[in-house]
Amino acid sequence: MTHLVVDTVTCDGHGLCADILPEVVDLDEWGYPVVTGPVPRRLRRAAAAAVTACPALALRLTNPSPTPARNAIAAEPAPRRP
Ligand code: SF4
Repeated sequence: MTHLVVDTVTCDGHGLCADILPEVVDLDEWGYPVVTGPVPRRLRRAAAAAVTACPALALRLTNPSPTPARNAIAAEPAPRRP
């Protein structure tokens, strides 16, 4: 599931992200963003637009994998033999 993360240190609180993605971002009483939940699949493009548009570069999207792959070692390339 994709989440929108706000860097509260660099955010300048102008609320552009809430304008672009009101389904996921509310503003608190001082105008700073409050993420209300994960980004639904249908809104991923808008979320990416909000990340790009943020003037403070304070937004990023995360997409954590559910669990590490059980065969992660097998996915690495095998060493070459001379
Ligand atoms: S667009 Fe960026 S700087 Fe503006 S309120 Fe949202 S996170 Fe903060």
